[in-house]
Amino acid sequence: MQLPERIRVGPYEYKVSVQPNIHDRDGNREYGNINYLDGQIALNGTVDESRAVATFWHEVFHALDHCYSVKLSEQQTDQLGNALASFFLDNPELAPAWSQPN
Ligand SMILES: [Zn+2]
Repeated sequence: MQLPERIRVGPYEYKVSVQPNIHDRDGNREYGNINYLDGQIALNGTVDESRAVATFWHEVFHALDHCYSVKLSEQQTDQLGNALASFFLDNPELAPAWSQPN
């Protein structure tokens, strides 16, 4: 998958980066995270390609939720992220860049 360097969600721009490892405040490993204040989406570079794709979409849904106040739960964000990642993996003709490893 070719990650974009930046995405725009509504009026907000987010810089997308892959970090060597990501942990939450309690020291637990995370797949990725989003920082609304700084406009940053970080993906954990230690996860495999399929999880990285799903994590990217998971964080995009957090950005959409934040912008449009959809009020998605964490579980719904997971479900939508996995659904969109699977959709692009299953339909590579629609978005080749999202369907192939780097
Ligand atoms: Zn989340």
